[in-house]
Amino acid sequence: MTSETRKSAVMNTYARYPLTFERGEGMYLYATDGRRYLDFYGGIAVNSVGHSHPHMVKTLQDQAAKLWHVTNLFQIPDQERLATRLTQDSFADQVFFCNSGLEAMEGAIKLARRYHFKKGQPEKWRTITVQGAFHGRSLATIAAANNPKYLEGFGPAADGFDNVPFGNMNALRDAITGETAAIALEPIQGEGGINPASLDYLRALRATADEYGLLLVFDEIQCGMGRTGKMWAHEWAGMAPDILASAKGIGGGFPMGAILATDKGASGIDPGYHGTTFGGNPLAMAVGNAVLDIMTADGFMENVDTVSRYLWSKLQKLVADNPTVFEKARGAGLMLGLKCAGGVVAGDMVKALMANGMLTVGAGDNVVRLLPPLIAGKEHCDEAVAILEKTAGEIAAKTEG
Ligand SMILES: *Cc1c(COP(=O)(O)O)cnc(C)c1O
Repeated sequence: MTSETRKSAVMNTYARYPLTFERGEGMYLYATDGRRYLDFYGGIAVNSVGHSHPHMVKTLQDQAAKLWHVTNLFQIPDQERLATRLTQDSFADQVFFCNSGLEAMEGAIKLARRYHFKKGQPEKWRTITVQGAFHGRSLATIAAANNPKYLEGFGPAADGFDNVPFGNMNALRDAITGETAAIALEPIQGEGGINPASLDYLRALRATADEYGLLLVFDEIQCGMGRTGKMWAHEWAGMAPDILASAKGIGGGFPMGAILATDKGASGIDPGYHGTTFGGNPLAMAVGNAVLDIMTADGFMENVDTVSRYLWSKLQKLVADNPTVFEKARGAGLMLGLKCAGGVVAGDMVKALMANGMLTVGAGDNVVRLLPPLIAGKEHCDEAVAILEKTAGEIAAKTEG
């Protein structure tokens, strides 16, 4: 719509679907038109524990009646508790809480630069990033990802980033100079089209970072927080970064992000060198702890693993049965992508699935993303694949006709 015909007072940053939801329950969203939708996009990996989870609702209501916000100038016990819990079973020793993904990622880059600065090497400040990345929409994070679509019109890209092909260790090593501070990437690219790094590549990144004294930064904003059946995606590779950015699923729908770091990764930071007004406030921390209560309960991660393997095998069959519609399935855990075949546009597939009662979201490289809440059961996968099959049939018929 042109600006003359547009009626909304909301800024024109999204081409929105003409659909309004009024409530959610578990794996389903209910629209104002009375229709029920199977949620297989989870607010783009945000609704990690489903909609209106009773423990989440009760926690938020109880906390809302007690205390919302006090600033980080004071002790916040729930912040201490959540940080401790996030570090307990992970590579990290310290956590900084913020409000969104880009803040976590940009803060992670700041940490890496300060680490070298404090070691007396201020000349080491550049970060190597990879093609196809997405790290958020701030001036630094669009420069880091180097996607021309997101950079256009916003002036010269912020300096300090060297972008190399994803998965290519030689190109990455060639890009290392005396100014390099860090390597930063998503272990599984989300917006780029669900592209998992190979486990060997992740291990080679760790070895190379150690060899050159660089910090390794992972953006697990989309692929972390249980999405792959382990708390963090890199755990599958049996290695660890120095710094990790989290957001999306960590708040289960409450705006929240976090930087996790080893003592080494965070060693450049002293009081006054980084901060946030809202990050880690009592309301957010109560909700964040509630998310972890659910995710650390017996059987939660095992369910993600079991259900995702079940879904994976069904998707393999779906793709094999519908070669004119789908090229392949890829991803890990419940972070899966269906790459559409030549003549099929992923965005059209997303709309057709929506018309058939299922919510998904597109990604780069003509991919339809499946990012269901992590409470999904096999029955929801059956329902999703039935809708995918039906929709694929409709699209195949249309394409042929
Ligand atoms: C969503 C996302 C971001 C940005 O998060 P915001 O909360 O939108 O700022 C960064 N990196 C990855 C991998 C993401 O999926």
